[in-house]
Amino acid sequence: MRIGILSRGPTLYSTGRLVEAGQRRGHRVLVIDTMQAARSLGVVPRASGRRFNQSLPRVDAIIPRIGASITRYGVAVVHKYESRGVVTTAPSQAIAQSRDKLRSLQLMQSAELPTPKTAIVSNLGELAAAIDAVNGFPIVIKILKGTQGKGVILAPNLVTARAVLSIFFRHGHKPILVQEFIDEADGRDLRLLIVGNRCIAAMQRTAPQGDFRANLHRGATSTRIRPDEATEELALRAAALHRLGVAGVDIIPSQRGPLLLEVNSSPGLEGIENTTRTDIATEVVRYLEECAREKQRRPTR
Ligand code: ADP
Ligand code: MG
Repeated sequence: MRIGILSRGPTLYSTGRLVEAGQRRGHRVLVIDTMQAARSLGVVPRASGRRFNQSLPRVDAIIPRIGASITRYGVAVVHKYESRGVVTTAPSQAIAQSRDKLRSLQLMQSAELPTPKTAIVSNLGELAAAIDAVNGFPIVIKILKGTQGKGVILAPNLVTARAVLSIFFRHGHKPILVQEFIDEADGRDLRLLIVGNRCIAAMQRTAPQGDFRANLHRGATSTRIRPDEATEELALRAAALHRLGVAGVDIIPSQRGPLLLEVNSSPGLEGIENTTRTDIATEVVRYLEECAREKQRRPTR
């Protein structure tokens, strides 16, 4: 197959690993710059005087690795490939849905998957009711499109909560999520890597001293784990619900069992491959091959 990896950086670890894995399995692999592809579709304004070039690189299958800051452009490019019948590890809609914490949370709640208690706040007047809804302080405040722990803040009291919300509102973040703080997790959470309805790797992450956020980008440490059945089942259901064939599912352990935090459509491979010594890239390529076979069996979409 000709596989396109939508990525801004051919030198990024995950991109490099996917190129290597694809080539090793006999595919032709291209790294397609997502923004350049979006420009060729005309969804990004181009410098005046430059001609439109309507062509996207021709491929049979794509692996979208879309950075959070360019979700909209990435989604447009993936959508274009989908409309051409190109197989993808993540449908455009699934990427858009999982990137928006509110949409994602609503999806999980309506499917009755357990999540931390969460309220939505659009102005300071709604804060008191939100605090009640999540059982009081401390509360976790989250912007909808944060990633790597940026935009996730612990507020111990009303003064801090009001200050944080005011700043977020002023920067155009609206609405904001107010969430129950899962104290008993003690700075730990779980990342399960799902590929094609199987959990192929899992790790526990522990927040660095003085922080409650267990993102590896914040200096969290990680260890390989074997998730219990309930945790694994929950991650599989969350990935399937978001229609993601490849997903990094974040789960926080709590007194009332595992709770879903979020579902990542472009999970980083470096931390989890190194922690679990698992060749996730090859699993992703195999899954793509399986999707392509499946499509040939059922050519109508
Ligand atoms: P991001 O998209 O920025 O990674 P998350 O919602 O995954 O946002 O939160 C980042 C980290 O903060 C999580 O991995 C977890 O360690 C911690 N965290 C998030 N929500 C809660 C919560 N409600 N209670 C306790 N810790 C939390
Ligand atoms: Mg996260």
